[in-house]
Amino acid sequence: MTTADPAQTVVRGACPHDCPDTCALLTTVENGRAVRVQGNPTHAATDGVLCTKVSRYAERTYHSERLLQPLRRVGPKGAGQFEPVGWDEALDEIAARLKTIAARDPQAILPYSYAGTMGLVQSESIAARFFHQLGASLLDRTICASAGAEALTQTLGNKVGMPVRMFAHSQLIVIWGSNSIGSNLHFWRIAQEAKRQGTRLVCIDPRKSETADKCHEHIAIRPGTDAALALALMHELIVNGWLDQDYIDRFTLGWEGLRERALQWSPERAAQVCGVPVAQIRQLAQDWGTTPAAAIRLNYGMQRVRGGGNAVRAVACLPALTGAWRHPGGGLLMSSSGHFPVRRAALQRPDLLGQRRPRTINMSTIGDDLLRPASPEFGPQIEALIVYNSNPVAVAPESGKVVQGFGREDLFTVVLEHFQTDTADYADFILPATTQLEHWDIHTSYGHTDVLLNRPAIAPVGQARTNTDIFRALAQRMGFDDPCFAQSDESLCRSAIGDADDFEQLLAHGFASLPVPDAPFAQGGFPTPSGRCEFFSQRLVDQGLDGWPDHVPNYEVPQAGGRYPLAMISPPARNFLNSTFVNVQSLRDIEAEPVLEMHPQDAAERGIADGAVVRVFNDRGTYHCKARLNQRARSGVVNGLGIWWRKLGLNGTNVNELTSQHLTDLGRAPVFYDCLVQVALVGSAATPA
Ligand code: SF4
Repeated sequence: MTTADPAQTVVRGACPHDCPDTCALLTTVENGRAVRVQGNPTHAATDGVLCTKVSRYAERTYHSERLLQPLRRVGPKGAGQFEPVGWDEALDEIAARLKTIAARDPQAILPYSYAGTMGLVQSESIAARFFHQLGASLLDRTICASAGAEALTQTLGNKVGMPVRMFAHSQLIVIWGSNSIGSNLHFWRIAQEAKRQGTRLVCIDPRKSETADKCHEHIAIRPGTDAALALALMHELIVNGWLDQDYIDRFTLGWEGLRERALQWSPERAAQVCGVPVAQIRQLAQDWGTTPAAAIRLNYGMQRVRGGGNAVRAVACLPALTGAWRHPGGGLLMSSSGHFPVRRAALQRPDLLGQRRPRTINMSTIGDDLLRPASPEFGPQIEALIVYNSNPVAVAPESGKVVQGFGREDLFTVVLEHFQTDTADYADFILPATTQLEHWDIHTSYGHTDVLLNRPAIAPVGQARTNTDIFRALAQRMGFDDPCFAQSDESLCRSAIGDADDFEQLLAHGFASLPVPDAPFAQGGFPTPSGRCEFFSQRLVDQGLDGWPDHVPNYEVPQAGGRYPLAMISPPARNFLNSTFVNVQSLRDIEAEPVLEMHPQDAAERGIADGAVVRVFNDRGTYHCKARLNQRARSGVVNGLGIWWRKLGLNGTNVNELTSQHLTDLGRAPVFYDCLVQVALVGSAATPA
């Protein structure tokens, strides 16, 4: 796009970050340099607005600590000491090491990646082809959303829901497990608009978040008790006759079993478990049961506990019980990503494996798995790790073990990165990667239903190369000659989405909308095997699991007199996105220091004043941070805002020093919010019970 100033161009793009909003970007370029990154006003979901974090994208792109050339380790593992090396030398050495390991067993090589970019091309296209051709271990990408994803799939048939735009027509919006102001800003703008029209907003969250502040009501539930609350709401819908029996009969499966289970959950019983007043449960049930266009914006915070999958299943049953799906503005949205016809097999080429069936490693247990020796059950020890789009040393649970694993002198580690993160400190080679302003990509979304194209706005900074280019160069050195490794990024973008997408429109406008109806399940038509909303899932029974949703208690429940009496959750600090942006000075200045929010009563019992440096600890480790005393924490629960880089923390750790490697009931996901701790003043010997 040209502008009034002939020295400037504006390039259309997409935000790459792990956020449901997937904003359309406009990058203003002057003399080859990005000078401004703004929201595209013609993209309805973005509406011309970006969050504070990505408004600083130019600052991040030209950051003085940006990695500009390949680096080779010169010091001990983890010391972060490197020397510059040429690309050819680095790639030759990496390929030689991988060839040697692959000759023994390619499964000893593990890719480790997640959503550092959500782009389909710079995440899993050429990289996936490379690892498939190699026969490397497969990675189970579970670290954020797989419990909820599995639960939605078992209940609604896929990661589908009501279009986000339709929340503007809701009469009641329940924001469940989400600080939308911080992590779903564009939905929040719609909810605010609805509120101005008279819509009631209810927030369910253990933390009294910035979003809870602005809702009509906040239900400060105990972590990991959401299914109990959902079942008690069902109980009230049943006993008060607030059901849409016609919708249930025609469009759901397993009603009688769900009814029987829900009737075991009186509001009194749920109130005991959830730690909320009975009256609040009854009132929410009445609101839900008597409001036609009632909607839930469910997010991923609440599924980070042992019973997270069951909890999402229970909540996802609620709109069908009252027939909310019939109404424009009624229903539920957790993820919209299942609406997109992505051609994953064409992008990732699993056929390159041939007859080989490598083992799968769960990314959420990388701490344990890096420390495992070879065995018949596990297979070969992990000898090489290629990390891209992820910072596991900071974000994976039980980071004491993750650090120990990454610190193995015999582990060969390559990290593709923008900055020298906690993980990059442990690399043998760091390869500088391009940012979103420097490469092609194509994006779906998990918060709306538009496809976005990202064009490169500027040339790669320094010697940075795209992920795809790096894996192409490695493939060539490994002798992989399948023509698929030569496919260009623009061509990959073109082939990524099925026919529903018009690539010419993407080139012209930067985005294209999928034709999702206003009320997609008004007449059932769920993409489940039965075509109904499956309260009962035969597929779960076939796996030996419960067919109906239930409350599954946390692994770690406070016990009277127990050593660790406080439940800790670790929601993101508002100006960070997981561990991204922690090194952007202007954003870190706002967050100031690692913080633990504590209820004043819990703090007083421990002699802790506001601003005191505290140690938060359990059997897995110790984390130092500043205590912030306020009502954002409910009594008995502390909020460790994340995710700080370990090396920028007060004692070289972060909140994941405390989290465990247990997994959720569905989806094999981590249980970051199912974690007991104790808190004491630094220097104090006291460990109050
Ligand atoms: S709101 Fe989300 S999608 Fe939009 S710019 Fe910020 S991080 Fe990116």
